[in-house]
Amino acid sequence: AAPASLDFIREMIAADVAAQRNDGWVITRFPPEPNGYLHIGHAKSICLNFGLSVENAPKAKCHLRFDDTNPTKEEVEYVDSIQEDVKWLGFDWGDNLFYASDYFEKLYGFAVQLIEKGLAYVDDQNAEEMRANRGTLTTPGTNSPYRDRSVAENLDLFARMRAGEFKEGEKIVRAKIDMASPNMNMRDPAIYRIMHAHHHRTGDAWCIYPMYDFAHPLSDALEGITHSLCTLEFEHHRPLYEWLINNVSGLPGQPYQREFARLNLTYTVMSKRKLLRLVKEGFVNGWDDPRMPTISGIRRRGYTPAAVRSFCKTIGLTKYPSLTELNLLEHSVREDLNKHAQRVYAVLRPIKVVITNYPEGQVEHVELVNNPENEADGTRKVPLSRELYIDADDFMENPIPGFHRLIPGGEVRLKYAFCIICQEVIKDETGNIVELRCTYDDATRHGVKPVGRPKVKGTIHWVSAAQALDVEVRLYDKLFTVEQPDGEEGDFTQFLNPQSLEVVTAKIEPSVAEAKPGAHYQFERVGYFYSDPKDTQPGKPVFNRTVALKDGFVK
Ligand code: ATP
Ligand code: MG
Ligand code: MG
Repeated sequence: AAPASLDFIREMIAADVAAQRNDGWVITRFPPEPNGYLHIGHAKSICLNFGLSVENAPKAKCHLRFDDTNPTKEEVEYVDSIQEDVKWLGFDWGDNLFYASDYFEKLYGFAVQLIEKGLAYVDDQNAEEMRANRGTLTTPGTNSPYRDRSVAENLDLFARMRAGEFKEGEKIVRAKIDMASPNMNMRDPAIYRIMHAHHHRTGDAWCIYPMYDFAHPLSDALEGITHSLCTLEFEHHRPLYEWLINNVSGLPGQPYQREFARLNLTYTVMSKRKLLRLVKEGFVNGWDDPRMPTISGIRRRGYTPAAVRSFCKTIGLTKYPSLTELNLLEHSVREDLNKHAQRVYAVLRPIKVVITNYPEGQVEHVELVNNPENEADGTRKVPLSRELYIDADDFMENPIPGFHRLIPGGEVRLKYAFCIICQEVIKDETGNIVELRCTYDDATRHGVKPVGRPKVKGTIHWVSAAQALDVEVRLYDKLFTVEQPDGEEGDFTQFLNPQSLEVVTAKIEPSVAEAKPGAHYQFERVGYFYSDPKDTQPGKPVFNRTVALKDGFVK
């Protein structure tokens, strides 16, 4: 028996393997439609399907199949991005790359076969008539007046549909099942429609295209898929899936379908149609905008494949719809980056500090650890001098209770340097703080607290003004202001967060000048940042905030 810790899908598969169903093979597929970029929800399906093939090796495979049966919405750009995203997540389909469009001839043959068996017919009703005759959840539908056409007439009409004799919507092929079925999907579902559309792979070879519900199970069977795993919204399509597998003869495989709950994340929309709108209507800067829940977006933001895989493991698989906290994803990202990200000092909202008793012109170098989680990452030297920047958030002129950082007349420790006391706050004519004049105490170096002196509670980071680099930092925040933009009344775009992107010029330690595109950093006390893979230039990095540190600023 399977260990108790297995989810219901893995338990089912383990039982099939134990029973030597399909000689113990586990063949799954990830079947995206190339009509948009993949999102984090797809990652759940990828981790499941490809994960199963890894876990059940060597008698296991996972196919990448493009479900490209709807030519009007599909593009090669999407085909390419999907492959890149699956690879980035760390999975490999090997030789098993397939396109449903490669089966068009076979699928056509299966439809002919169903017609010959009296299990499909050509319907002349238009969309409106079909809708009216479909019935409702509580009332049966009405048989089409064309339902009893002869096999010969159906075959002739279907051939002429293929030959391009009819206009779109003029004729459609339907499976002849049961117009009174309580399951609406079984009320003579459409299996082939006319579309005079150019297909990104088959060109103009076809003007009829199979419906998803027809193409999907038969493509699974053609590829020898053993377990067809999909999301819950297909549960009511399962009887049709099984009807097709049982009624089409000569199929090389006998797959079955099971459903699991899709990933829903707070503060996010996840349908490709909606994501496409965000791109097309200019709410974001393309599919790979770091605020997008697309794989390409989170990659550009600095999320890591390991973090996404670990997140998918954490959420597990259930049969019931649920909403997952965005926090949980961010937690996985922090956990992974904490292990790998190089630490640096950066000040996002600089205020100048002048240490009046530090010798002018003198520069010393403090040796800092690159990553406390990995000694092998070594150390670096960071300059320290009379003029520094600290973060505006680390100073309060009129401190609130519990604020333990720098205040007028108060003392704070500059991390790995020494303590300073704020002696004077300099403002411009409009009252903005332009400079803090401080003094330092040499006796407080190396974390020393001189005897008899009050304890210094706050420790802050800093950068030396003369050597600091000015860098562009993009502070990304949630794309939406409500947990479920989909669940609210009205159009989801009205819940877009107007503050989802803030761009600042930060002061950063000079070691970062040579940052390569696509490198992970922890700005100490601030968060994790990623040098933008597109916009970072030699000597001129641009940073995206991947995720803030869990507790914000340390008090
Ligand atoms: P969308 O509704 O976002 O456009 P889709 O389901 O139409 O997505 P497909 O390209 O058909 O997108 O999906 C490929 C596979 O990914 C399917 O098996 C689908 O069930 C799965 N999938 C899509 N969205 C999610 C999600 N949010 N969570 C888990 N799996 C998902
Ligand atoms: Mg789809
Ligand atoms: Mg969908």
